[in-house]
Amino acid sequence: KKNVLIIGAGGVAQVVAHKCAQHNDVLGDIHIASRTAEKCQNIINSIHEKKSLKNPGILEGHALDATDVDATAALIKKTGCEIVINVGSPFVNMPVMSACIKTGVAYLDTAIHEEQDKICETPPWYANYEWKRREECEKAGITAILGIGFDPGVVNAYAKLAVEDYFDKIDSIDIIDINAGSHGKYFATNFDPEINFREFTGTVYSWQDSEWKSNKMFEIKKVWDMPVVGESQTFMTGHDEVHSLSQNLDVPNVRFWMGFGDHYVNVFTVLNSIGLLSEKPVTTAEGLEVVPLKVVKACLPDPSSLAPNYTGKTCIGDLVKGTKDGKETEVLIYNVADHKDAYNEVGSQGISYTAGVPPVAAAMLIATGEWDVKKMANVEDLPSKPFLNLLNGMGLPTRIKDANGDRALDFA
Ligand code: NDP
Repeated sequence: KKNVLIIGAGGVAQVVAHKCAQHNDVLGDIHIASRTAEKCQNIINSIHEKKSLKNPGILEGHALDATDVDATAALIKKTGCEIVINVGSPFVNMPVMSACIKTGVAYLDTAIHEEQDKICETPPWYANYEWKRREECEKAGITAILGIGFDPGVVNAYAKLAVEDYFDKIDSIDIIDINAGSHGKYFATNFDPEINFREFTGTVYSWQDSEWKSNKMFEIKKVWDMPVVGESQTFMTGHDEVHSLSQNLDVPNVRFWMGFGDHYVNVFTVLNSIGLLSEKPVTTAEGLEVVPLKVVKACLPDPSSLAPNYTGKTCIGDLVKGTKDGKETEVLIYNVADHKDAYNEVGSQGISYTAGVPPVAAAMLIATGEWDVKKMANVEDLPSKPFLNLLNGMGLPTRIKDANGDRALDFA
């Protein structure tokens, strides 16, 4: 058993905590640390309400500023945690990783590190922060698994599975993310608006013909016919996994497509065009200095408040094309998740659910040793099957659609 420290107490942390509780026979004590202690307590209360704890065990909340490396290291030591699941905002990644290196414990996150005042740095993004610390992790003998949410995360494992089982040579990986759910609000983002908008205001980097290509957001549109959710409008979007898969797998084309309805595109375009998505401060006539993006965030619904009324499904997967035994072939490896099911099980909407279950599966694989590689790894560096096998039993089953039909994949 390995005790877990969860950093952050937002939408994703809620799912992580519930799933750790459901599996506290493999994982041990569960500690949740965030700036606001009350948010940790709310998660603990919801775990008790839903009776998620499998075995009696420790479940505690802590107030912590995770940018304080010494305070984080002290909490790791005090709680005896051996695995840190960082699902705080992406601004805290590097300090939390430092605390893990300092104390010799495993580190997991679900998004690339970001600095508040920088948007969209040079590709590959991982090389700007995380990969600079590879040697340090190896020297400290710690396992650090980067980007282990759904996308990035499970989609990287799908790409690895394609390499392992379905192709001799891959020409393209198109990652397609469709949320066909409905939250009933005029406009809302599914996770932190600040992080959500930052994703779409920078350059859209894609890996095509083995080099980086740059586009603007909403410049390249494509309609995909996906299982369950049907024909969906998507736009090429910059995303973390393109930045690791392009470097780690020998594949000349890696692109990411996110589904957006016309309404989202219109509202986003208006906000962006008049400067309301800027992270640069402006001064009002009254002399008040405000960051427009922070003001927009303060006005929008809290993403976690969407959960109770969210209905519909998500479909996220990898469309992979290449050759096998000299023949051209194509597979779609994907998952379908349901917003209402997620709410009933853990009190969260489907986007938080798909992001929060995978890091817990990964933590379990570290606890059992299968993924305890004692160095830094992206998901595609690791064997995909133990992970996808666990996810099959944890609410995120893998399906495949190819020339042999559309079916569930069983790895047991
Ligand atoms: P939320 O904004 O809901 O939660 C973020 C949490 O981080 C909050 O509880 C906040 O604390 C806490 N936090 C921020 N700064 C600090 C700090 N300095 N010290 C301690 N705690 C801090 O985000 P989500 O739960 O929606 O997302 C969490 C992470 O998951 C993000 O990095 C996001 O990018 C990623 N993600 C990944 C996905 C994937 O599939 N790979 C999909 C969706 C999200 P407080 O409120 O107390 O201030």
